[in-house]
Amino acid sequence: MSVEFVVSAYNSSQFPTDGLAEVAFIGRSNVGKSSMLNTLLQRAGKRISNNKAVNSKGLAKISQTPGRTQAVNFFRVEGQLYFVDLPGYGYAKAPRQEIDRWRRLAENYLQDRAPLRLVVLIIDIRHGPTVLDHQMVDWLKFNELPFCVAASKSDKLKPVARQRSIRSIAEGFSPLVPFSAVNGEGVQQLWKAIKTATAE
Ligand code: GDP
Repeated sequence: MSVEFVVSAYNSSQFPTDGLAEVAFIGRSNVGKSSMLNTLLQRAGKRISNNKAVNSKGLAKISQTPGRTQAVNFFRVEGQLYFVDLPGYGYAKAPRQEIDRWRRLAENYLQDRAPLRLVVLIIDIRHGPTVLDHQMVDWLKFNELPFCVAASKSDKLKPVARQRSIRSIAEGFSPLVPFSAVNGEGVQQLWKAIKTATAE
């Protein structure tokens, strides 16, 4: 699978203009977003491309670069669609001003983006939906954006706790895909949702 890192956008004038379908990923910081992007892009194909910005260690590296997490990052996948890595929300320790800036940038993207086909909202299976997650879902619904929810780090819970958590998250957050970057659970299901949403 070929993946090209295209741009870290700090304002909407830097967003791509070629009109390819887009799938956006959003969640609290540390929710497992970079790991999910890497897993989706590696498991479905053999290896991430040799493009300089996306080396064999994958996309996490990019997201971990200071500054990049405050941008909207665009990755072109197979020349066919974009994975859009939105800034994580809920940095409790960040100064108010920065939180507002991240939120503005993410909302700026989400609110007015014609090529956007699907938002993947990532929720940590262990922490369930937080207040911020609820706000995000309400906001996505209010703006009539198509979304699905991925419960990340599904390998971290034992079966009983896992079922309990899935049931409680799924109450207000469906469709729900349990996902693990460690054992690959949910990779196919999420790809299916992405392909369905981005098919013309
Ligand atoms: P991001 O800040 O949302 O991009 O989160 P990362 O992908 O950097 O992951 C945050 C932490 O959670 C890291 O320590 C990862 O190793 C860990 N992590 C991410 N996904 C999984 C997963 O599916 N299973 C387990 N066990 N750990 C994970």
